[in-house]
Order: sequence, then C-alpha cells, then structure tokens
Amino acid sequence: MKIGRVEALHLRLPEVREVADGTQDVLIVRVHADDGRIGLGEVVSCSYVGRAVIEAPRSAPFRHGLAAIVTGMNVDAIDDIAVAVEQGTAWYGPGGIARHVYSGLDMALWDLRGQAAGVPVRRLLCADAVDSVPAYASVLWPERPELVGPSAQAFVDAGYRFVKYGWAPMGPDLNLDVELVAAARQALGEDVGLMVDAGRAWTVTEAMKRAERFAAYKPFWLEEPLHPYDNAGYAELSASSPVPIAGGEAVTLLGEYDELLATGLHFVQPDLGRVGGITYAQRLAATALRLGCRPVPHAFGTGILLAASAQWTAAAPEPLTEFTRAPSPLARELAHHTMEFRDGQLHLDDTPGLGVTLDEAVVARYRVN
Ligand SMILES: [Mg+2]
Repeated sequence: MKIGRVEALHLRLPEVREVADGTQDVLIVRVHADDGRIGLGEVVSCSYVGRAVIEAPRSAPFRHGLAAIVTGMNVDAIDDIAVAVEQGTAWYGPGGIARHVYSGLDMALWDLRGQAAGVPVRRLLCADAVDSVPAYASVLWPERPELVGPSAQAFVDAGYRFVKYGWAPMGPDLNLDVELVAAARQALGEDVGLMVDAGRAWTVTEAMKRAERFAAYKPFWLEEPLHPYDNAGYAELSASSPVPIAGGEAVTLLGEYDELLATGLHFVQPDLGRVGGITYAQRLAATALRLGCRPVPHAFGTGILLAASAQWTAAAPEPLTEFTRAPSPLARELAHHTMEFRDGQLHLDDTPGLGVTLDEAVVARYRVN
C-alpha cells in the first residue's frame, strides 16, 4: 500500500478566544492510500503554518513540503518515511513545526497500517494491549473558585475517576491558586484523582510554594509548573516537591526528552500531535520507562488525537489518557469514534486502525479555505 495523496484540513471556529484551548483551531491530516483507504491524523500546532508545511511544493534540497516528500512511499516503511521527512525538511526542521506536522502524518499512517492488518492500532504496538483505559476529564479552570465545585461535581456524577483543571486564573496569586485546588478537592472527594495544570506559570521558587500548599489536597500531579525547557528547574522541583511533577507536552525532539527525563520528573506527557506521532512516542516512552517515569499522553484536541492517544496508552504498562471535555464542536463533533466512556474508562473495540471517521458536515462548516 502506497501513500497516494496527503491532504491538510484546517478547521477553525468563527470566533477564537485567546485562552489555552487548542480545540478552537485544528489541523487534520488525511492520507489517501493508493488502494482507496483513508488514514486520519492530527497536528497540534499553529494550523496555518502546519497546513503550508504539508502543501508546499518541492523546492531546493531540504525545504520541501511534507506531501511532496512522502507521496508514493510505502505506508509500511516507517523508518524510511521518518528519514525522508527529516532530510526533506532539514532547513526548517527537525523540531518545531516540521515535527508537529510529521506527527499528524505518522498518526494517519498507523491508522492505515491497522486497517490493512485488520486490527486496532494498539494490537500492532502490543499483542497484549488492553481493551479499556482510564481517561481523565480535562478542562480549563473556571473563572472563579466558587464555580469549581459545580464543575467538579458534574464530572464525579459522570463517572470520572480523575479530573484535571488547568491554566488561568491559576498563576499570579498564591492564595487564589490554593483556593482553586481546595475547591476542586472538596467537590471531588478523597477518591477521585485531581491533576493540576499550572500552564508554565511559575519560577522554581513560586512553584515550590504552590507544591507545599497544594500537598494537603493530594494532587495526583502538578503539571508544567515551569517553562517547558527549564530543565534545571525541573530537576530541583522533582527532587524536593511533596507533589509528583508532570511535564513535557511542549517538547518535540527525542534529545530534548532525554534531557527532560534526566531531571527525574515523575510523569512525562508527550503530545502525539507534536512529538512525532505514535512512532516517536514509542521511542521516548521506552526511555521514560527505563528511568521510572510514567508516560501519559497529553491530548487536548479532536477525537482523532483522543483515539490515537487511547490506542497508544492501551499498549503501555500503566494506561491512562487525557480526555478533553472542552466545549468546542471540533473537540466534540468533528470525529466519530467507536470508543465508549463508562465508569471512568474509555472502552475500545476492535475496529481496525484508529477507528475514527470525520463528520463531513462539521468539516464543511468550519473548514478554512
Ligand atoms: Mg498541560
């Protein structure tokens, strides 16, 4: 099976607010194989730039568009495709946008490989992959602490066993930050895991103050308290924080992950739409597990990223995935998937590939031409 055509589908809500919700503007990679099969992947980046990276025609060496590089290649040639993309994009890669866009392509190719083999992607990754994975609800913090309780209660009522809140208004005010966390814990009770995402808000000193105050509320982890590349800070914090530290969603290259993992952080959060898809996530997870760091995919996107992340973590030793509950129709309606959420878990069936299809009406409504 060969790669016939690579399409970039850029979808955007009519109004995009400047909040940390990446589901307002998304980039989908649709790969048409020469046998008529269709694979889907998602890029988590600047969609306008990503689309150009896919569509750009061939140019002088090392500055080609992705579609031009991979069209005609064998879908199963995982390593050859990775090398061709790295070489063909070398003047604007290998990290950043080049790796982000490769991620969407890689996801779509794994979808095609699963379809061709007649098995879900998780079985290609691990013969013993499980059929259900814990999924944590993930949203932005409500605007005020008094709004946190009703939000958290709704997640408990819906059966979630883990809930994550993140980003503003958390950040500048220590007392407000503690109020937010306390309100979440009170509503969730003692038995539901609470993840806190700081959205890279603090210095090490400020982060340590939060970790010490948050500890009473037993967060499952404190996510991205520092700038993503502050490895010295992550090392200091991971060694002394009373709360487990998570991070890594913004990092792309394996060498960068090696440096982050060497800091001793407790959870690493590759985003399959940025890190190089399932192929590179597998490689960094091997390193993470060797160092005692638990990989949990970052997945705040459409149903495509959700499905890829669920399939990937189902093949991991300790499955857990993020399940965005963002209200955007692109998060909720764009991709039809065959997973069912029940009792805090996403239950996966045996649909070959990633088991996702696009709702063409949603595509037509939000597509940027
Ligand atoms: Mg985060």
